[in-house]
Amino acid sequence: MLPYASLQDAETAIGRSLTAAETFWFNYSATKSDYFLYCHNILFLFLVFTIVPLFYVFIELLFSKNVIAYKIQPKVKFSFADNLNCYFDVMRMFLLVVGPLQLVSYPSIKMIGIRTSLPLPSLTEMMSQLLVYFLVEDFTNYWIHRFLHCKWGYEKIHKVHHEYTSPIGYAAPYAHWAEVLILGIPSFLGPAMVPGHMITFWLWIALRQIEAIETHSGYDFPWTFTKFIPFYGGADYHDYHHYVGGQSQSNFASVFTYCDYIYGTDKGYRYQKKVLEQLRDGKGNDGLNASGQDIKYE
Ligand SMILES: [Zn+2]
Ligand SMILES: [Zn+2]
Repeated sequence: MLPYASLQDAETAIGRSLTAAETFWFNYSATKSDYFLYCHNILFLFLVFTIVPLFYVFIELLFSKNVIAYKIQPKVKFSFADNLNCYFDVMRMFLLVVGPLQLVSYPSIKMIGIRTSLPLPSLTEMMSQLLVYFLVEDFTNYWIHRFLHCKWGYEKIHKVHHEYTSPIGYAAPYAHWAEVLILGIPSFLGPAMVPGHMITFWLWIALRQIEAIETHSGYDFPWTFTKFIPFYGGADYHDYHHYVGGQSQSNFASVFTYCDYIYGTDKGYRYQKKVLEQLRDGKGNDGLNASGQDIKYE
């Protein structure tokens, strides 16, 4: 709810004419409560979880011959029914955990100072805040994820997410309810440290999930714009973590690669890359791990 009775009031308060985007925001939000605006996240998350993975389902079903070269584990096939089952599992968790969490977490958003007021943030402000959110999320998620790979964490919680040794887009949010709750912390920490506008917060929640869906898509397309982001992990990076499974001590980071590099938890992945490159270059498999445990895509 905005503290202005009219557009003129708003312009007087901020000392200039409103931009087109600000006028739109005023008309949309002036009479809506901040709680209701915050709860828009439920709709956005529902749309992201439902629509974004569909892109990967359709290209696999309709253009499999054209995209097979980019499939990370080409021998693994998921039918439409498999995808639908995963989606229903995710939606059950959405109704029982994600949605209710959004409904009750508003006081924390209010407390950290997420604002709905005018003026709207500049593009630079939004982008720099989003960058901080991604960096904070990545670092915090890295350590929580590492903890979830200890015996207790894996057996009790994290093995649900690892049921997919070859991940699909719909499986990005597929996890134990406790993991869904715990991983809300890294997503919340960035906005808590650098609180911004509600629109930035909406964008952050949606972008983080879109990023997770891409990294679980099972496809490593060379033309995605994320390829241009420095130190970005991507689908191939996280797919390796799922492929190795519960005993994986590699590729814990959710977004970037630098944590795994700094803390030495990308050795299995880098070794596998090297061996695959040697095989591709026709240098034979002399350097292949005898157990072959971490080598994939045979
Ligand atoms: Zn894991
Ligand atoms: Zn995953």
